[in-house]
Amino acid sequence: MSTERSEPLVRSWPALDIHPVSELLQAALVDYDVTAVDERAPDDWRVFFTSARERDRAGAALRTEFPDITVQSVDVPDENWAARSQASLRAVRVGAIVVAPPWDLPRDSSDGTIRIVVEPSMGFGTGHHATTRLCLAALQRLDLKERSVLDVGTGSGVLAIAASLLGSSDVTGIDDDADAVASAQKNLELNAGANVTLLAGDLRSTRLPAADVVVANLTGGLLVAAAGTIQSMATRGGRLILSGLMASEEQDVLVAFAGWIVEHRSDEDEWVALTLRGANS
Ligand code: SAH
Repeated sequence: MSTERSEPLVRSWPALDIHPVSELLQAALVDYDVTAVDERAPDDWRVFFTSARERDRAGAALRTEFPDITVQSVDVPDENWAARSQASLRAVRVGAIVVAPPWDLPRDSSDGTIRIVVEPSMGFGTGHHATTRLCLAALQRLDLKERSVLDVGTGSGVLAIAASLLGSSDVTGIDDDADAVASAQKNLELNAGANVTLLAGDLRSTRLPAADVVVANLTGGLLVAAAGTIQSMATRGGRLILSGLMASEEQDVLVAFAGWIVEHRSDEDEWVALTLRGANS
């Protein structure tokens, strides 16, 4: 198990194929959590949503409101989506944080919004996957001021950047994928206010400083396989934020992290995020 390479985190993306797209329908889409629009032709859109639930909610309403328009549910496999839709990614808000591609930055941050610019690229973590959003919400539930944070499997660096902008005093991100580390480096440069140390390496074999908060958005299998290592990364009284596991894997993950107490649990579609604290803290 310990040499297993983690399986892909993303299986498919919930979307609606809509044709013909009218101006009224475009206006109606504003009411739903849209993450990207693939304009295959001016009146032929594939619209991506934050979750299957949200896609189904939008689909049902649009079919009622626009009976003459074809609205078809699709689950788009990851590789197709990545190749064709990144240019149309939109900003996503999670609490006070907005994660945006460079072309969809909110203009004003005077309302307390924390803006994170992420260049969609090889590194996973544009903020458009449920698990990334669940982790961004979990980070905001903790007081990170003057706390250290370790982001294991940093991908695009989005969680590490968020931790730094939320006030963490000392943030380290690690990933064993060289493309991910390169994209995280680029994203750090795009977010001048963030201060993060990036390391390339396998989280199971790299010596890392213990941290007050360890965030690990990996897979259920890897969380179980690396549970001992991940637990040893947290300081006494620290927190673990675990995600990337599916609801069907939750029990196995909880067994692997026995001795920790679930302080918070959230889910979206089949994905789960857990915030754990040590039993004695
Ligand atoms: N933290 C980001 C990315 C999560 S994807 C977010 O929340 O959006 C998981 C990341 O973990 C990928 O970038 C992958 O390369 C990395 N990863 C997988 N196995 C790893 C391992 N054994 N050691 C270090 N990083 C690993």
